[in-house]
Formats: sequence, structure tokens, C-alpha cells
Amino acid sequence: MNQNKGLNSEYYQSLTRNMILTVVIVSFAPMILVSGVIFSQFRESYNEKVYVHLDELTMKHQHNIDNFINEKMNNIRFLAKTSSFEELSDESFLRKRLATFRQEYDNVFEDLGMINEQGLQIAYAGPFDLAKAQYFEADWFKKAIKTQYFISDVFLGLRDLPHFIVAVRQNFQGRYWILRATINFVAFNDLVTNIRIGKTGFAFILNRKGELQTQKTILEALPSKDIYTDLLKNRKKDEGKVYIVEAVDDFGNKNIYSSAFLKNGDWMLICQQNKADAFSSLKRNQSFAVLIFFIGGCGIITTALLLSRKMVGRIAKADHEKEIMNQKVIETSKLAAVGELAAGVAHEINNPLTTILTTAMLIQEDIDPDGQMYADLEMVAKETLRCRKIVTSLLDFARKTKPAKKPCNINEIVAECILLTRKKAAFNEIAIAQNLSEEIPTVLLDKDQIEQALINIILNAVEATSPGGSVTILTTFFPQDEVIEIAIVDTGEGIAADNIDKLFDPFFTTKESGTGLGLAITHGIIEQHGGTINISSKPGQGTTFTIRLHANRDNNDEH
Ligand code: ADP
Repeated sequence: MNQNKGLNSEYYQSLTRNMILTVVIVSFAPMILVSGVIFSQFRESYNEKVYVHLDELTMKHQHNIDNFINEKMNNIRFLAKTSSFEELSDESFLRKRLATFRQEYDNVFEDLGMINEQGLQIAYAGPFDLAKAQYFEADWFKKAIKTQYFISDVFLGLRDLPHFIVAVRQNFQGRYWILRATINFVAFNDLVTNIRIGKTGFAFILNRKGELQTQKTILEALPSKDIYTDLLKNRKKDEGKVYIVEAVDDFGNKNIYSSAFLKNGDWMLICQQNKADAFSSLKRNQSFAVLIFFIGGCGIITTALLLSRKMVGRIAKADHEKEIMNQKVIETSKLAAVGELAAGVAHEINNPLTTILTTAMLIQEDIDPDGQMYADLEMVAKETLRCRKIVTSLLDFARKTKPAKKPCNINEIVAECILLTRKKAAFNEIAIAQNLSEEIPTVLLDKDQIEQALINIILNAVEATSPGGSVTILTTFFPQDEVIEIAIVDTGEGIAADNIDKLFDPFFTTKESGTGLGLAITHGIIEQHGGTINISSKPGQGTTFTIRLHANRDNNDEH
């Protein structure tokens, strides 16, 4: 009958699933789209920010270091230009100048030296014992003598300490000589090694051969020089701008390298930072966004789940109510049709039945009461009477006359019913008991109809009960609801669960000679009085029929 058996039926389950899916898709699709666009834009601008920051930082340090070196070179140039060869060859003059430089530049100048064309240091001022030192074979001297201004790489030299040299070549009486100064490595080194970028970023300087020009300790920890030499090789010497690449080192770490040339392209300043470090705050934001997304997603799914279940629950309820209504309409029209048919048939059958009965009785008067024929006619009369009984019940069922209500006392009606059924109960050895409330008010009822309904139930109870059992009739009044309750309790065989729903259907019977109309008529009567009738039964233990009638309502006016 009802294909939608509650929320668990496949139809409602798939409806719930579809609803959840729709809500989730409709909510998630724009959320994913918008988040994706925002995130990719954010990542792009963050990327740009990191690169711009590195670019600016590298450029700033490039200027700082170049300024540092050029400043020292300019000092030596100025000294060479403004002093004569004799003055510069005088060690006491050199010492005085060195003292001035050291005072001015925080001891950045280590020493000063005059070197002739043959590489001999003809004058020296400084802390080392380098007077008359021979530099002819020194690599830096070979380069310095060929160019007017020269800045060396960092090297150990005769003093066995890392330093570098700035040198100026001058011409005196057709011969070259060189004025050179040694620059304190520590001061220069600090300029670079103090550079810090994020948590992992640091800087260093390489010459064009890829040799480190700043302190070794950091570079010893560096994984691969290939990356740096690649950076050097692929760049043009005069390129002024900062060049940024990303590469994976020997340890599998992805780093960002920003590089810029120093010293007119002889050296390269490289700032290196771990990419994860550079993008750590982006990562943090990303994780936060994912968390928010996850929480939001859970919220959407839970809401979709709850809403869908609630909505489907309501739809199922509405469907169920509609189904019941439909069934009622079908049943009512079915009953009306059956009733009409039955009334017509009953009316037509009643007259022939009377004729058969009277004829049988007339023949009986004329024959021997002990003969076989008499007994046969007795049977004809008995069966005809049974037919009459069925016809009367059918007419009762079909007629459904409007109750003629008068003020009645339910207890009195019950007492009368007991009186009328007592004989049959006694015959079946069934005890009939009563427990009637004294509070029962007088109500408007059709006494005959209610009596008929009660007798039907009581007789059924008696018939269903084995000898020795009992049938008890109770009346109760519930003042709050203004309801009168009549319960007929038997200790009979009970009713099978499958049959309970069919009990009020016309012609449903389990008895051999039953009509199946008793309870259908009873149900009609109680309904016409605006009451309800319920059955509870335990097979093998007994059955209770409960009738509820409203105490004050005049149901005649209702329908
Ligand atoms: P009939 O009595 O002619 O069978 P009814 O409509 O009065 O028709 O009853 C229908 C059926 O309901 C009965 O055949 C019987 O099986 C069942 N029934 C009614 N009352 C009881 C009861 N108290 N205990 C067990 N079965 C009952």
C-alpha cells in the first residue's frame, strides 16, 4: 500500500543524499573558486614581495660594499696624486699618512707600501716586517703593474693572513711605481657576513673563479659551489642589476639566490635564503586558510546533513498523511458502494426468504414431526433464518442512520447490554463482570446504536473466550479531556497481529458462520458519534476493545 515506509526507505535515503549533495556542491563550488583565486593572487603578490625585498636588500649591500672598496681606492689615489715620489718613498711620511687613514677609517687600513717596477717594496709603513719585500713574482703585482687602478682578490700573501690590496700605478721619470694599501679583512668581512635575511639567509662574495672572498666558516657549510659558478658564468660582467634564481642544493633544499656584481664585475655578492623560510609566513597563512576552509566545510556538511534530514522527514510525514487520506477516501467510497449494493440485494432477498420460511413452516404443520422430511424442513428454516440474519446485518451496515441522540447514562446502557448477553455468557460458562465509574456524566447518545455496538463487542468477546474465562466491562471518566472511556476486556484467544488492521473491514471474519459485519457496524456507529475505537490484544491472553466518546460534544451537529 505505502511504498514510502518511513525515512529509511530507499526513496527517502536517495532524496536525503541528493539534497546533501546539492547543498554541498552549491556551497563548496563558489567557496573553492573564490578561495583558489584569492590564494593564487595572494601567492603571486607574496612571491613578488619576496623577490622585490631580496632585490632591494642585495642592491643595498652591493652599494655598501662597492662604496667601501671605492672609498679606500679613492684615498690611495688622492694620496698618490697629491704626494711626490720622494715623499712617498719616505717611510716616515708613509707612517704619518697611514696613521691619519687609520684614525679616519677605524683601522681599516693595515699598511701602506711603495713598490718599484721591479716589485721591490722601497718604502713600507705598517705592523709587519715587510720592508724591502719582493713582490715581483706575486700574482697581484703582475696584475697591478699592468693597470692604473687595481683591487686584488682576498689572499693570504706574505703575512699569511686573509687581506686584499688596493693599488695605484704612477709614472715617475718614465718608470712605473705602485702605491698600495692593505685593507683589514675583518672590517670588510663583517660588512658581508653580518648580512642576515630571515632565519636562514646569509651573504658571501665570490670572485670570478668561484673562490670565496669572505670568511670561510659559512661557505664550508654550503652544499654546492656549482650553483654559484653557474650564476657567475651566465652573467655579463657589466650587468648592474640584481639577478635572482631558485635552485635545489645538494641536500635537496630549495633556495633562492640573489646575486649582484661588485668591483666592476670581478666579484659577485650572493645572498642565499631557504625558500621555505622566505615563504614561511605565506605557509602559515595557507595553513590557517586550510584550517578555516576545513572548519567551514565541516559546518556546511553538518548543516546540509541536518537540514536535509529535517526536510526529508517533513516530506515523508506529509507523504504519509496524504497516503492515509487517500486510503480513507478509497475506503469510504468502497464502503459506500458495498453498502448500496448490499442494501439493494438485501431488500430483494428479504421477500423470497420470508416466503421460503413460511412455506417450510406450513409444510411442517402437515407432516409427521418425527419423520425425515420434518427434520429436513427444520434445517431449511434454520438456514433461512441465518440468511435473514445476514440480510438484517447488511441492511444495518448499509443504512447508517443518523444517530438520534438523547441524554443517556453510559453505565445504564452497559448494564442493559450485560443483561442481554448474560444468557449466552452463562451458556458458554463465561463470567461477565463490570467496573463502572460513578463519575460518568450524562451524555447525548443514540442509546439503541451504542447498545448495538457494545453488544457486538461483548458477544465477540464471549465467543472468543474459553469456558471458565471472563469478560469485564469498565467505564471511566477523564474530566480534563471530558472523555468517557468504555473498555471491554476479555481473557480469550486474542487476535493475530496481522488481523488487527482488518477487523473493521466489512465481511472479515474468522468464524465459520460469521458475517464479518458486526465490527464494521460498530465502527460506523462509534464514528458517527465522533468517538474512537481501539483494540489491543495479546494472542493467547486476551483482547481489550476501548471506546472513547466525548462527554459534552453533540456530534450530530459536526458532520
Ligand atoms: P463476526 O463476529 O461475524 O466474525 P465481526 O465483525 O463481529 O464479525 O468480527 C470480526 C472478527 O473479529 C471475528 O471473526 C473475530 O475473528 C475477530 N474478533 C472480534 N472480537 C474478538 C475478540 N474479542 N477476541 C478475538 N477475536 C475477535
